[in-house]
Amino acid sequence: VTSVRSSLAVVLRARAYGESDKIVTFLTRDFGKLTGIGKGAQRSRRRFVNSLDPLSRVRVYLRLRPTATLAFLESCELLQPSSAFADPAKLAYASYLAELSDQLTVEEHPAPDVYELLADGLAVLESGPATGAFLRGFELQLLARGGYEPQLERCRSCQAPFAQAEAVFFDPLQGTLSCGRCRDARASMEVGREVVTSLAALQPLPLRSCRARSLGAVAAEAAQLTGRLLALHLTRPPRALRLIAEIAVGGV
Ligand SMILES: [Zn+2]
Repeated sequence: VTSVRSSLAVVLRARAYGESDKIVTFLTRDFGKLTGIGKGAQRSRRRFVNSLDPLSRVRVYLRLRPTATLAFLESCELLQPSSAFADPAKLAYASYLAELSDQLTVEEHPAPDVYELLADGLAVLESGPATGAFLRGFELQLLARGGYEPQLERCRSCQAPFAQAEAVFFDPLQGTLSCGRCRDARASMEVGREVVTSLAALQPLPLRSCRARSLGAVAAEAAQLTGRLLALHLTRPPRALRLIAEIAVGGV
C-alpha cells in the first residue's frame, strides 16, 4: 500500500474516461508532470469540485502506484480557479504557457523550476494583459529551465559579445547564434542585433518585469526567433497559437 502524497500543481489537461472517471495531467511542484485517474471525478463534486479543469492551480493528493502508469487521485483542492482566464485572450495565452510547459517536460521527471515558472506566468497573466515581452520572456526562461537555454549574448564560437557585433546569424537547425566571422554560411540567417540583445535582456528578469518592457520595432522578429528556438524542442506546434492568431491582440 502506498501512502498519499500531496503537491502544489497546475492542471495541464483533463479528459473524461468511461462514464464517471477523469484522466488528468498535472505539472506538480514536487513530482514533475504526472497523469492520474480520478475515480468518479465526473460526478464527485465533493472531492473534485472544479479543480480538475485545465489551468486550475491546485493542491493535489494522490497515490503513486509503482506498478501502474496512472497515479490514483484521492482529491484535489482548488487554489486558483481556471475562471481567472475566462476572457478569450487570457485563455489563449494561459493555454499557450501551459501547452509549452507540457511539451518541454517529461512525465515523472522532477521539474520544480518549470512548475514555478508556469505558476508565476499564470499569476502574472491573471493580474494583467499579456505583452510580447512577457511571452518572449516566458519562452526563453522555459527553454532555460528545460535545459535548452539559448546563448543570446555572445557568439557561440568565438564568444565575441553581440552588443558590439556588426551582424548576428542564426542557425535554425542548431538553434545557435554566431557572429559574421564564425557563421556557417549554409545554415544561417541574419537577425537584427537589437532583436538578440532585446531578448537577452529578458532572460534574467522576473516575468512581471518582462511584461512591463517593450520590444518596440523588433517585436515581430523577436517572436519569430523564439518561435524557431522553441520549435526545435516541440513535438508539434502549440494548438493555442491558432487561438492567439485569431485574437491577434497588439500584434503579439
Ligand atoms: Zn564568432
